[in-house]
Amino acid sequence: MTTIREVGVGDFVLLDKIDLEHFMQNLEVRFKNGLIYTYIGEVCVSVNPYRTMNIYDKSYVDKYKGREFFENPPHIFAIADASHRVMKQQGRDTCIVISGESGSGKTEASKIIMKYIAAVTNQGMLPRPDGTEKKGKHEIERVKNILIQSNAILEAFGNAKTNRNDNSSRFGKYMDIHFDFKGDPIGGHISNYLLEKSRVTTQQQGERNFHCFYQLLMGGADDLIRRLNLSRQPDQYFFIKQGNAAKVDSINDKFLYRDVTTSLSALQFSQEDQDTLWRVVAAILHLGNLEFDLVEDKLELKKSKHVDDVASLLSVKKSDLEVALCERVIAARGDIMRKEHTESEASFGRDAFAKAIYERLFSWIVKRINAAISVDAQNFQKIYKSSLIGVLDIYGFEIFENNSFEQFCINYCNEKLQQLFIELVLKQEQEEYNREGIEWTNVEYFNNQIICELVEAPHKGVMAIMDDACKMTAEKVTDELLLEAMDKQLKTHKHYMSRQTKTTEKSLRHKVDFRITHYAGNVTYCIIGFLDKNKDTLFQDFKRLLYNSSDKNLKEMWPEGAQHITQITKRPPTAGTLFKNSMQDLVKTLISKEPHYVRCIKPNEVKSASAFDYERVKHQVSYLGLIENVRVRRAGFAYRQRYDKFLQRYKMISQFTWPNFRNGSDKEGVQVLLKETGFENDVKYGKTKVFIRSPKTLFALETSRND
Ligand code: ATP
Ligand code: MG
Repeated sequence: MTTIREVGVGDFVLLDKIDLEHFMQNLEVRFKNGLIYTYIGEVCVSVNPYRTMNIYDKSYVDKYKGREFFENPPHIFAIADASHRVMKQQGRDTCIVISGESGSGKTEASKIIMKYIAAVTNQGMLPRPDGTEKKGKHEIERVKNILIQSNAILEAFGNAKTNRNDNSSRFGKYMDIHFDFKGDPIGGHISNYLLEKSRVTTQQQGERNFHCFYQLLMGGADDLIRRLNLSRQPDQYFFIKQGNAAKVDSINDKFLYRDVTTSLSALQFSQEDQDTLWRVVAAILHLGNLEFDLVEDKLELKKSKHVDDVASLLSVKKSDLEVALCERVIAARGDIMRKEHTESEASFGRDAFAKAIYERLFSWIVKRINAAISVDAQNFQKIYKSSLIGVLDIYGFEIFENNSFEQFCINYCNEKLQQLFIELVLKQEQEEYNREGIEWTNVEYFNNQIICELVEAPHKGVMAIMDDACKMTAEKVTDELLLEAMDKQLKTHKHYMSRQTKTTEKSLRHKVDFRITHYAGNVTYCIIGFLDKNKDTLFQDFKRLLYNSSDKNLKEMWPEGAQHITQITKRPPTAGTLFKNSMQDLVKTLISKEPHYVRCIKPNEVKSASAFDYERVKHQVSYLGLIENVRVRRAGFAYRQRYDKFLQRYKMISQFTWPNFRNGSDKEGVQVLLKETGFENDVKYGKTKVFIRSPKTLFALETSRND
């Protein structure tokens, strides 16, 4: 049934020998022959091709629609189809978890999946003979359109060029797509996780700020650029020039700007909304050029036209802006006082302000998209029973020259996803064999729970120690003291190390570094900045300033600005705690659904379509636990099915089971059928399921069924 020549094996379960070497050989030969997808059972391993592949058009959609895995060569469409089919036929919620390191192809995979789902739904609803259309058709098309178009907007505001990936996701995204009983999408919801907002004010060498800044400067109409008082030169703005990488060969900012504005209009962002959006982006650019001066011991803003620009773009009074940038109001024992900033406090405040307005803007965009596709749950449940598919595309594991709080959170997130994979795929497969009474040998694998605990354990994990430090009075605690506290608590932990605890360890260069041995490798983090980023302080004065903006969208983004200083008693949760909680919630959400996996692999560091960096790939295959995955699956069996379902599908093959098996249980029926067809040596009978070792047997059964 396969139409392209298969090279290597399409499922690693079919390898002659299961070890790293054979796995790598198969992966490499397939990659070199343009076969980027290979299965491990129902897990899809995908190698980033770094070139356009002609394998996603309609002919491919038709080929995979409604088909079982073994009927076609491996393809990500099969994962999307299986997920959609289970959801539709069994009414179960499913999810597709896409994982892999930065640049391995997760975001592209998620877009391919969404396009596939859009292509296979709402078909056959042609206009009626009288020319009218069935109710709902437009609504479904509208929802599909939003789901797809939202990508351009979210990528513009949430992705950036890093040294690992020109289009790196700097936020986590989990999207639920709701379907009606016919399996057509009727709505959705996007959850966004921790945006890497430090990028708004600082970029490493070779990196950029978020795409939208460059898109606006390159693509904005002359009239808009004039109204925003901007120059088209990125090097005029401190917040976007630090990486010296404004121009990227693979990115056409001008073209993408047009894409974004088209998508914004399609998603019902009014002209006024779009105006707010670009005004905030421009205000941040101007804000980055503000500097402070000490004049006769008094802190002042350096005279510059940028102050006027920020005030007018944010629709706030210039004098209020100046005050908010130079001093803060504090409440001490019931008294309200003004306190002038030091120069460094003022710069810190300015940067925190820029980061906060960007982060709020991003959340506001997501909120607006959600509003456009929300399913009115109440109303909806009365009419239909809905199910959903969740698609997770999050920032991949990353190691940079300098790793900070953001990398710490991103890598922790990847630990959680690996943990979920272990729980769901490795552990549960093994448990199923035990439950079914199928004989097999246990497969050893590295369980990274110990690393998750190092980060998240109450009272003694890194997050808890950080939170404790943040509770202390600001003057008393420094990042160095935080590191000391971590050392004290964690010095004996196998996955933790720092210069202060291990004097014999020479490879850590600085006293301010600590290292975590992650499942995917060692990462050295620099503690400087952890406390501030965790506390994530934004002076109340800024919140009040924006709440008083005459731009109603901006006001809406800052509701807490309405609070009076004396009403603020509780310390807000730290960034680390918020992130940890959101990750734990995400895991709960995913675990409640039937998971489907795409494991992405980055073939080389140079974005080459032909280079297969053996060592780098081997490392990924190892840490992703793919060999263990094959072992579990193979010790296991290529296919398993409940007796009743199996009989239902194949009963026509045997005279003894057609049209019905009357001489015993379903299990006995299956036994009779497989004996008659000569496959009984390739199968094992569990308590409730039949287990078939080789996909070839299944293929033969399918063929006989169709004969
Ligand atoms: P991050 O964790 O940094 O967000 P990622 O895993 O999401 O990384 P992508 O942005 O999806 O990585 O992929 C990086 C680049 O690789 C893409 O911009 C594209 O150029 C290329 N690429 C990935 N997958 C494919 C594919 N299926 N076909 C063609 N090119 C691809
Ligand atoms: Mg991505």
